[in-house]
Amino acid sequence: MTSLALAMSTALLIILTNFQSSAILITSSSPPSSPSSPSSPPKPHPLPPTLAQWQDSTNSGDYFSQVNPIQVGYLVWSQFPVRVYVEPPQAINSKQAQQWVNAVLQAVQEWNVYLPLTVIKQAEDADIIIMRKAPPLQTSPNSKIPRARSAQTTYEFYVSKNNLLSHRFTILLSPSQTGQYLLAATRHEFGHALGIWGHSPQPSDALYFSQVRNPPPISPRDVNTLKRVYEQPTSLGWSVQEKSVSIPLK
Ligand SMILES: [Zn+2]
Repeated sequence: MTSLALAMSTALLIILTNFQSSAILITSSSPPSSPSSPSSPPKPHPLPPTLAQWQDSTNSGDYFSQVNPIQVGYLVWSQFPVRVYVEPPQAINSKQAQQWVNAVLQAVQEWNVYLPLTVIKQAEDADIIIMRKAPPLQTSPNSKIPRARSAQTTYEFYVSKNNLLSHRFTILLSPSQTGQYLLAATRHEFGHALGIWGHSPQPSDALYFSQVRNPPPISPRDVNTLKRVYEQPTSLGWSVQEKSVSIPLK
């Protein structure tokens, strides 16, 4: 099955849904070479100046131990600014649509303090795409009843024109989210898209695993965690050595 996939696929596409690894597709340009020779060995990128300058005067600690590396290492961006596309909603009137976009952009601005981001007009060029769309229903392993989710963040990989292993995120925000909950959901999901692929155990952090009544702003612990993520090794942003990349199925 794996060798068949290698032989047949011509584009890199790896998709993980939330934290349950589901579909992983393997990739290569033909002819496929050894499946055990993936992209460059993971190594860290230089810390972006915004994070290098960050000092936590409150010594609040972090929850880096909760962040999961994936097959290629950590989900860090290395080309700045990161390009963000916010899809204008169609199903609501233009005033509501503008309010929605404004809330989403506010969350983007909050993170922009710690990592350079830019909002672009073309979805094709985006690193992170944000849409007002209900995430697919999720059935958990111990329950047969599908559960609605307020948001979903997924990523995929591709090889860029200059042969770098690259990734792209899509954030779906449920239309049921409005006001401060929309802002909080965007802030939270955006934290995932910037590389915090895990959750905080404390409700005072934006990346707390559950929605809270009074959503907190980005906390020093969130930023401490982000900074540690950006010190970690990754294959993302480095060149793909052979013409083939393969990631073992988990
Ligand atoms: Zn989350």
